[in-house]
Amino acid sequence: MKSLLTAGCLALFLGVACSDGSRTSQEAPPFPGAGLLLISIDTLRADRLGCYGYDRGTSPNLDALAEESVLFTEMYSNSPKTASAHMSLFTSLLPTVHKVRNQSKRLGLSTPALAKNRLTIAQILNRNGYWNACIAGGGNIQPDMGFARGFRNRFESALWDIKRVVDRALDRLDQAQEAGQPPFVFMHTYQVHGPYLPPSEYEKRFAPSPSPLIGARVALYRDLPFNKQWSIMNRGPGNDETKAYWYGKENFDENEARYLSDLYDGEIAYTDAQLGRMIESLRESGQLDNLIVVIVADHGEEFLEHGDFEHDQLFSEHLHVPCIIRLPGGALGGTEVTGMASLIDIMPTLLELLDIEGPPTMAGTSLVSAMMTGHTDGKPVVSERVMFPGDYKASLRNENSSVIFHATEARLDAYNLIEDPGETISVFETADFSAPAAAKLKHSLGQAFHNRDALDKEDAGGSIVVDESRLEELQALGYVDGDASDFEIPEGTPLDHWPDG
Ligand SMILES: [Zn+2]
Repeated sequence: MKSLLTAGCLALFLGVACSDGSRTSQEAPPFPGAGLLLISIDTLRADRLGCYGYDRGTSPNLDALAEESVLFTEMYSNSPKTASAHMSLFTSLLPTVHKVRNQSKRLGLSTPALAKNRLTIAQILNRNGYWNACIAGGGNIQPDMGFARGFRNRFESALWDIKRVVDRALDRLDQAQEAGQPPFVFMHTYQVHGPYLPPSEYEKRFAPSPSPLIGARVALYRDLPFNKQWSIMNRGPGNDETKAYWYGKENFDENEARYLSDLYDGEIAYTDAQLGRMIESLRESGQLDNLIVVIVADHGEEFLEHGDFEHDQLFSEHLHVPCIIRLPGGALGGTEVTGMASLIDIMPTLLELLDIEGPPTMAGTSLVSAMMTGHTDGKPVVSERVMFPGDYKASLRNENSSVIFHATEARLDAYNLIEDPGETISVFETADFSAPAAAKLKHSLGQAFHNRDALDKEDAGGSIVVDESRLEELQALGYVDGDASDFEIPEGTPLDHWPDG
């Protein structure tokens, strides 16, 4: 083991950066006063990166970063939808509890804003002297949904190409340094989100064989500026639906899926190159070793694995995301942490790494001790798709199985991930694990609705935040298979549609 201290830099022992700004020799958390660069690559599934086993050379820069970072092999999103997943990342609350979901102007749907008593990581860091800035990709990361909270007036969200996003984030990190405060920069990009139209160099390299339908559309739209590319996803020029990128996707065949998947790889490789440029710039300026750098995604992406495209279901390709955390000085570099973890665990992890106390509402578990042992506690992950009122799905996933609740159809499915990792055949009726897994999911969701109601009551002027003794009891029960019937399900939740009545 290398020495914890360097000569003349005793302050490191206390977790404070040296006067010259270096922090190269501290090897173990916490890192009080370190900066934080939290990067969300929207729609990036874990299994498309080399460091997660992919073999197409999409991610040389992230792979190199992973070697000096802690990599979580089983990180899952709490939602396949952008707004819900990001707010879970920001608050350490499940989608049901923070209540923020995707908006759709096209479908006339809006989302509630985050209630004031759900605190975000930006608010907590702001209160602790951090210089915060957000550079997000527009779409479903909007200030009025609550995402701007804690960023003071340094919140930007616009459909920018990853190159511009990286430049802006580097500017912001420089500004924080000039201000003499530790930075928290949240950076989000839709670069790998559909429509996949990578720069020509990446298109040629990763997607040289166009399919008939998407090939023609790529030829039509590849030269559009990034913000205009987004606008042709569901409507073509002149509002013509039939010219949209995704038009007729329900009938796309395997050949279209293969080409879409290749284009997606091209976008990943382009994004990786830009992130590599960013990391090198931070390394050269000496900023990197005073930062905790996190690479994560809000959800994955489907290419017909379950009959669909994009990200609207609760299978592995929709939920398994990368999570790479580079600690100051590359501490614990090369560590792989196995075991289940989810986006709600990231806020408590980062706050513990920075030695900052988080709000008592946080539902996730800090993964700092897992970084030291190499294993999480393996707690099953709850994910929710809360898109439209009355259209709700939720899942509970561990390393061996997944169970999915479809509220609208009052149906449960279950998959044996050891025998059927592709989740192709529901064994709900026959597998021994189904009933206890479903009971655990029902119980977890019941707890989430209870927590939501408790927070809503407080937000409306009630005096009790959360009944902690009740929560502890529920927490304990959550690890007991079987009966959750003693829990009173609030009226009007998707659980009313649980198939066992
Ligand atoms: Zn997203």
